[in-house]
Amino acid sequence: MMMSEKCKQHVDSCRFCWMCHHICPIGNATGHERSTPRARALGISLVNRGAIELSEIMDNIYECAGCGACVHDCVTGWDPVMFTKEVRMQAALEDRLPDYIGKMVDACLETGNAYGKTVLCERLSAKIAEHSAPTDTLLFLGADARYMACKQAAQAIEVLEKAGVRFTVLADEPASGAQMDFLVGAIEETKEQMAAAAKAMNGYKTVVLYDPFDAKAVKQTYHEYGVELSASAVTYTAFLAELVKSGALKAEKKLGAVVLQDAFQLSRDLGETEEARAVVSAFAELHEMHLNRAETVWAGNILMAQYIPDVMKLVAKRRIFNAKSLGEDTIVTTSVSEYVSLKNAEDEGVKILSLEDLILA
Ligand code: SF4
Ligand code: SF4
Repeated sequence: MMMSEKCKQHVDSCRFCWMCHHICPIGNATGHERSTPRARALGISLVNRGAIELSEIMDNIYECAGCGACVHDCVTGWDPVMFTKEVRMQAALEDRLPDYIGKMVDACLETGNAYGKTVLCERLSAKIAEHSAPTDTLLFLGADARYMACKQAAQAIEVLEKAGVRFTVLADEPASGAQMDFLVGAIEETKEQMAAAAKAMNGYKTVVLYDPFDAKAVKQTYHEYGVELSASAVTYTAFLAELVKSGALKAEKKLGAVVLQDAFQLSRDLGETEEARAVVSAFAELHEMHLNRAETVWAGNILMAQYIPDVMKLVAKRRIFNAKSLGEDTIVTTSVSEYVSLKNAEDEGVKILSLEDLILA
């Protein structure tokens, strides 16, 4: 397998130690040594030395959520997310992707989403139609919300309506490229999707990114891949925090204690930790989760639930256990994917709310 010198250096320098072992949400959920970042590094180093075949580690390569908890904890500065993404990219270039990943990549290229969906629910279609006129502000919903969490997407629109914002939503919203980047990294097709999305966004002064998954791609990865974005990209959470601050979004504390589940893309990757807190504390009594802000523990996503649903359930259950251990019974999410994942854990002892649920309650 071809691998850049930079990634080889990270794989070979990783000490396969215990420093990041305990914080991997996948390793903790499965309890398998092979699911941990250090085992992934070891596997890649064995492939690089010709000791085992790439096909032997591909399932393991796709177990990584890219949540960056290991990168954050590695005091020696090695980056398991970077080398895992590069292996995915090389596998795509060498046509050695597992079938279940290849199918999702094909769906991304054909339909713009990994689920191969083409039809929106009626409620969302109607909401989008009300905001088809051009304005300065584009609300970008993202594939997960549009196709897999339609009620949440519609509510995201309703919250902005409640605050009196004039905005546009695209009926034919392009893919942000975030799913392609997760599945196969920086191949040409990923960059082409990103460039097409940036072109659509550049027709607006401000783009409000509802899903933190897209927000990370647009605000961080586009720049890394040389995709030009002239529009001002703002996360939905930061946008809401401004609306609360200006009084446009009237806040009333209707709920008691809640804990906030920090989305890693916001708190770890984009350094946005206080915006969500400003919104939540305006509508409820904010308590802190065990491991919060940049230390957050990822609670699962919709994309990986397509191929490892049982593991996603375990990941979500573990995060719910963190909240319950603190005596908390309500978790507020800022990521639509984590919202769906936590709901899918079907724990009746805890209430899962999105920011929109909280505001529209
Ligand atoms: S990434 Fe860092 S902390 Fe994790 S196993 Fe490698 S050297 Fe240890
Ligand atoms: S990025 Fe997250 S899921 Fe992947 S190895 Fe690191 S801690 Fe585990």
